[in-house]
Amino acid sequence: MSFTLAIIGRPNVGKSTLFNRLVGKRLALVDDQPGVTRDRREGEGRLYDLTFKVIDTAGLEEADGGTLEGRMRQQTERALAEADLAVFIVDARAGVTPLDAHFAEVLRRSPTPVILIANKCEGRAAEAGLAEAWRLGMGEPVPFSAEHGLGISDLHDAILERLTVLREDQAVSQAPRVSKGKKAKKEPSTPEHAEDGTEGEEPPSGPLQLAIVGRPNVGKSTLVNRMIGEDRLLTGPEAGITRDAISLDWEFRGVHFRLVDTAGLRRRAKVTDRVERLSAYDTKRAIDYAQVVVLLLDGQEGLHKQDLWIARTVIEEGRALVIGLNKWDALKDSKAAISEVQDRMIRSLPQVKGIPLVPISGLTGRGLDRLMDAVLEVYETWQSRISTARLNRWLSAMLEAHPPPMVSGRRLKIRYVTQVKSRPPTFALWVSRPKELPDSYVRYLENGMREDFDMPAVPIRFLLRKGD
Ligand code: GDP
Ligand code: GDP
Repeated sequence: MSFTLAIIGRPNVGKSTLFNRLVGKRLALVDDQPGVTRDRREGEGRLYDLTFKVIDTAGLEEADGGTLEGRMRQQTERALAEADLAVFIVDARAGVTPLDAHFAEVLRRSPTPVILIANKCEGRAAEAGLAEAWRLGMGEPVPFSAEHGLGISDLHDAILERLTVLREDQAVSQAPRVSKGKKAKKEPSTPEHAEDGTEGEEPPSGPLQLAIVGRPNVGKSTLVNRMIGEDRLLTGPEAGITRDAISLDWEFRGVHFRLVDTAGLRRRAKVTDRVERLSAYDTKRAIDYAQVVVLLLDGQEGLHKQDLWIARTVIEEGRALVIGLNKWDALKDSKAAISEVQDRMIRSLPQVKGIPLVPISGLTGRGLDRLMDAVLEVYETWQSRISTARLNRWLSAMLEAHPPPMVSGRRLKIRYVTQVKSRPPTFALWVSRPKELPDSYVRYLENGMREDFDMPAVPIRFLLRKGD
């Protein structure tokens, strides 16, 4: 952990929610010590490539003695003394309260750099509060929603920015390494348990979160403008939270979409030292936030290595994928272009079959309807659920057609299958000796399932469990 971040703010602004988002299950509760009020939590936070110590100052209202203000001031000062950076949260729905102003005063007097977060910004109700937050004199507030995970990448940028300044100020090279995001395999806000699916917890359903990604100049901005121009924009890029945040809300044939705007992400990223890395990084972030990803290709150029990297990332991250072959209007032989890309995809991405490849022109709008149909279709698949009864009927047919292999003289037995979660579809498989089940057999099941239940273009996951 390379630096320490303190979360500060009056009660109920969302400190704990942010803390949980940053720390997830890696929470290390401070030991109860006799005579010491356990008035704060610490944990190892993660935000993409950054790892750091987080101090949460929530829960002060329960402490005994003194005034609330007095206790908070004391606690805040203690946390600030330890922290390299502070995140100061205000509730944008409630607006700036006198207590917030009081905190701002304490923070202003501290040498610790502060990032101002306007929380609960997920809707229009927050617009006035966001504007008010400017008045605290702590710089530009980051529009945020700790509950819905909005603004996380902006927070990340703000942290990097402050760390850079810190480094320059103190001339110590303690700032975190910015790796290529390898460590950040998982979206930081994803609860750990989602990985093994034991809780079967579903994310709340809201707008369809869509990202349009692709190499520079393939036509992303043109396409986004076309999409939004033709339908109803719920939140314009100039309004409220999205003024310089990462998403646009709009409606297309009655479906509420949230578009993760990579161009916007790039604009926001103020770390400009390694431009080409940033664009891969932006892509990664957009994928993190999306449910469905449209990978846009330039039809005149075909599939590049970088495109395959993006496609693999989308699949590894468990998102649904649609490929748009853009600049259709400029293609001399569109059939040839399509089949060439199709061939390469089948060879290079055998793990996910049936990824839709839709020819489009962002410039003329041709093919846009088909693209959106494909998006809605893979989204449905991505969140589909299959009943346990159907699954087990299917499993016995699969076992009969091609029984699991013998391993050390004994046949492996697969007892039971059930879907533990969707988004992406994830199945638990009870196996007599799970460690010995060959990958090839899991792939056989996966391919069979994809075909029999008609689940193209989405990742399918199997979790092997021991069951006799
Ligand atoms: P703290 O511990 O005082 O900093 O605040 P909590 O994290 O306990 O949050 C206070 C309340 O605000 C809880 O009911 C949260 O569910 C809610 N909350 C937190 N973040 C958000 C947000 O982004 N949007 C909305 N609408 N509510 C939030
Ligand atoms: P981005 O970098 O991916 O956002 O790409 P832009 O949207 O800025 O487009 C890059 C260039 O491709 C611009 O000159 C666009 O006019 C052009 N372009 C975008 N979409 C199309 C299309 O569908 N057909 C043709 N012929 N050109 C396009």
